Amino acid sequence: MATAVTPMDCIIFGGGVAGLFTLDACVRKGMRVVLLESKALGTGQTIDSQGIIHGGLKYAITGNGSRSASAIKDMPTVWRKCLAGESLPNLQHVVMRSDFCHVWRTDSVRSKLGWIAAKFALRTKPVILDADELPHALQGTKGSVARLGEQVIEPRSLLEILSHNMTENILQTAEGGVEVSRLEDGWLIQLLNPETGEPQDIFTKKVVLTAGSGNAQLRTLFSLEAEKTQARPLHMVMARGDLPVLNGHCIDGAKTRVTITTTKDYADRWVWQIGGQLAEDGIHLVPEKLIQRAVNEIKEVLPNVDLSGAEFTTYTTTRAEQFTRGARPSDISILEENNVYTCWPTKLAFAPRLADEIIRRIGPKNDSEPVRIQEFSSWPTPVVALPPWEHDQPWTPIEVLQSQ
Ligand SMILES: Cc1cc2nc3c(=O)[nH]c(=O)nc-3n(C[C@H](O)[C@H](O)[C@H](O)COP(=O)(O)OP(=O)(O)OC[C@H]3O[C@@H](n4cnc5c(N)ncnc54)[C@H](O)[C@@H]3O)c2cc1C
Repeated sequence: MATAVTPMDCIIFGGGVAGLFTLDACVRKGMRVVLLESKALGTGQTIDSQGIIHGGLKYAITGNGSRSASAIKDMPTVWRKCLAGESLPNLQHVVMRSDFCHVWRTDSVRSKLGWIAAKFALRTKPVILDADELPHALQGTKGSVARLGEQVIEPRSLLEILSHNMTENILQTAEGGVEVSRLEDGWLIQLLNPETGEPQDIFTKKVVLTAGSGNAQLRTLFSLEAEKTQARPLHMVMARGDLPVLNGHCIDGAKTRVTITTTKDYADRWVWQIGGQLAEDGIHLVPEKLIQRAVNEIKEVLPNVDLSGAEFTTYTTTRAEQFTRGARPSDISILEENNVYTCWPTKLAFAPRLADEIIRRIGPKNDSEPVRIQEFSSWPTPVVALPPWEHDQPWTPIEVLQSQ
């Protein structure tokens, strides 16, 4: 028996921050749209990220990305309004890690120059703190310390809040359960229900790929060149225990020496995610060596922090971007080919900008009421991915490291 074909305006592949923001924008425009997720929502970059709503500090201090500098400058304001519930999507129930970041620098001439550039170039300008305003963790640092209006969100909570009201538009797919054929005026997507094995055919005019590192394989499925993608690996460090709350960057010259963000795990322990240059250099190191280096870095850049009783581990992850011949993209990227839009937000902070740009290209001119998609009411919905510190893996106590 032939399967009935369900017509759609748009199909989105991949439910990280980019896909969910785009889905939300399409739904609000009254488009018939579904998002297909092959694993758990946010698997890959979004759940592994540090959740900082960047305002361009990194670009300002490195002098890199002048075109994007103005775009990223606007992102903290865009997010602040959503996080306050003053604009859509309403993100006021997203768990916040912090309302601001600290930025502190190591005391070198190069570092000072970068600092001055940051002060002039940014919309959310760093405000230098007096000694009596410093949090305990930042007392005793060599250079000056500033507060920067970059909020820090809990990525898992963001994924939960964004997906919560759109469950009928978000479908779980199974490995090998998606086939694609090109038609004259769009695409036929043939799905298998991962629970029942029943087929479901969808005709769509537009396809949006927001699958992070999965974009390369999806592009092959749509007969597009996979080489247009690049992956930049990171080896992140995590510490847990009786740690002070700290969210911010230590700047040295034109580099972010470490970026530390703080969260709590399900057992109510403080957890630090430690990235920045340390995580970029860390890809060449085994976990034990990287942890040792991280401990040395922390002692140097945060002399007042007591690491007694802390435990450490690492995780590897990858930033997925449009291929840029060795350079680092500093804005969103969208490739438009045969009604397939391959998207990379480049930063979590850029997700609203990416969604706006997709709507500008494929959305209807006027807003209309969201439409209910009832054809998939019995289809399974994906869960949200677990953050890296909740995975079952060995943690090394600092006392063991010091005895080696
Ligand atoms: C360690 C780290 C820290 C970061 N920190 C920050 C930060 O503090 N601030 C910031 O602004 N940015 C940060 N970033 C960058 C940011 O995380 C990414 O730019 C952003 O999360 C990318 O989102 P995405 O939705 O495009 O991709 P992803 O989050 O990777 O999501 C892709 C989704 O697609 C799904 N998928 C994959 N293949 C398929 C398929 N075939 N079919 C269907 N679904 C598929 C995946 O399961 C996943 O759910 C960080 C990145 C990393 C790695």
